[in-house]
Amino acid sequence: MSTATLSIDLDAIAANWRALDKASASGVQTAAVVKADAYGLGITRVARALAQAGARRFFVAVTEEGATLRQVLGPGPQICILSGHMAGDTDMIGDLDLTPMLNSLDQVTRHIESLPGHAFGVQLDTGMNRLGMEEPEWEAIAPFVLEAGPELLMSHLACADDPDHGLNETQLATFLAMTNGTGVPRSLAATGGILLGAKYHFDLTRPGIGLYGGRPYEAARPAVTLSLPIIQTRDVAAGEAVGYSCAWVAEAPSVVATLSAGYADGLPRTLSNNAVLWDGDTPCPLIGRVSMDLITVDISHLQQVPRYLDIIGPNQTVDELADIAGTIGYEMLTSLSARYIRRYYEGTA
Ligand SMILES: *Cc1c(COP(=O)(O)O)cnc(C)c1O
Repeated sequence: MSTATLSIDLDAIAANWRALDKASASGVQTAAVVKADAYGLGITRVARALAQAGARRFFVAVTEEGATLRQVLGPGPQICILSGHMAGDTDMIGDLDLTPMLNSLDQVTRHIESLPGHAFGVQLDTGMNRLGMEEPEWEAIAPFVLEAGPELLMSHLACADDPDHGLNETQLATFLAMTNGTGVPRSLAATGGILLGAKYHFDLTRPGIGLYGGRPYEAARPAVTLSLPIIQTRDVAAGEAVGYSCAWVAEAPSVVATLSAGYADGLPRTLSNNAVLWDGDTPCPLIGRVSMDLITVDISHLQQVPRYLDIIGPNQTVDELADIAGTIGYEMLTSLSARYIRRYYEGTA
């Protein structure tokens, strides 16, 4: 079998959720963000594990993800849609009991007219300039919207991964000004916001990346191992080149392994001649260009040819690999190939 294996530790994900839940006071609810197929790890198994760990409210980006998640979880858990109530979403929202976070007067009107009495939340823009109602718009329609009974008022921090960034306090002050006195439950913090401390927690937190072992939650348990099978090895003489554009030339006689995964699988070309793979605790340099479906690795120093090498695992986290590639853990995770065989571990804790 030449397909790479992505091993996902559901116990680690559940433990990360519990730890982030404990990071806020007992009256604060902890949701779970499972958009983009649970950050690439597979929403079916991940959401079930999180529900088992105690999560009762889930966030996804778009309504179609919400529909999938409702099938996974069955009735009961609340499923919130961050993009709100778009044209064409009404039947899914109504039939599957999804809760849109309304982002504009347009969405409020659509929701209240098409599904009167159906649950909703409101997303407020406190300075990120991305999604949600800004202060003047909110002030104008708040009495009307509050009358309709929103379940949640939420906003999102732009710089929560940087505790010293001045925008955090500014957004907090704006959020307070926009929501004080409403009596409606509030939510401001994702993973980064949880780590900023109690005044950012309000009634509900919304961690995503921290559940999956990524920065800025440094204390997270890693949840992912990515093992790439070796398809073939060859001896390369000094002076011979390997791969596209002859981007690597052997300085000495070398043993080169060809592994099954490439940029089509979410390993960016910026890893070319740059990354390290691991045979247990022994590092092996990636050499030459990353191809669409293949990479090449120098294994001259290994005693035996192993069946596979790890590119994410105990010796190299998702964030460390992302650093090498010049990106972030979020992008690394959500780019993980649909081709990988996802193997789930649980019950070992
Ligand atoms: C993605 C997202 C989250 C989760 O963020 P993390 O940084 O992954 O914890 C929370 N809230 C909103 C609005 C988001 O878009």
